[in-house]
Amino acid sequence: MIVAKFGGTSLATAERFCHAANLIRQDPNRRYVVVSAPGKRDDSDIKITDQLLRYSETGDDADIGCVEARFREIAEELEIGLDISKEFDEIRHASHRREYLASRGEYFSAKLMAAYLDFQFVDAADWVKFRMDGSVDQESSYACLRRQAVGRGLVTPGFYGLMPDGQIHTFSRGGSDITGSLAAAALNAKVYENWTDVSGFLMADPRIVQDPQPIRHLTYHEMYALSCAGATVLHEDSVGPVSRAGIATNIRNTNRPDHPGTMITSTAVKREN
Ligand code: ASP
Repeated sequence: MIVAKFGGTSLATAERFCHAANLIRQDPNRRYVVVSAPGKRDDSDIKITDQLLRYSETGDDADIGCVEARFREIAEELEIGLDISKEFDEIRHASHRREYLASRGEYFSAKLMAAYLDFQFVDAADWVKFRMDGSVDQESSYACLRRQAVGRGLVTPGFYGLMPDGQIHTFSRGGSDITGSLAAAALNAKVYENWTDVSGFLMADPRIVQDPQPIRHLTYHEMYALSCAGATVLHEDSVGPVSRAGIATNIRNTNRPDHPGTMITSTAVKREN
């Protein structure tokens, strides 16, 4: 069984959404799905999460209107018969904390993907449990997810969870990777697939070296060091849950699904000659 997490660029438009759904359908082992909020469609675009954060500061109806329009466009183009307007009206008419608003990108992304795939939607607020100090209570989170993972497949939003006082709390930016890692550990996945827009960790910085090759294998130790040194492929805090559970992480490229990507394991893999 595979937990597959899709990043924002892989979900930026209806077409990308559909492509991600096809990848999920291609392998029946991909039963548990974690999604980010839709990212930028092009260089001049704004990520849904950034637009929500802007709305939390400005309260400008144009900002929340743009977010709603993007989700509506995805729903309409893919003919997902899900009415999101009531929930957006509720967001407009109540005053919400910044973290709650920031989390809505992942929330709606997961709602749409679950409806599109005909998978069960499990809200991250119903299983990712934070302690008051902001750390994740893994034991109770894992137990909550296991209890709810009963169907053929499920989709859950990345990036956020619930504090003991009932408030939504978000991880740091890029934190959907952490949710994916927690879900993989909770459900004892064989592999945690992290689908993004590169074919894994590269052998050199592409801004300096032309066309560097992706690294085939890394250990979690090496990956953590690379992430702390500035490689932005995977959130460094996503290492803990999967590495402790002995689960491999496979970075994959949605634009080149046939490429094996980078496989990250606890121990080094012998090099094939
Ligand atoms: N949407 C959040 C961000 O932009 C979290 C994520 O994508 O992992 O940082």
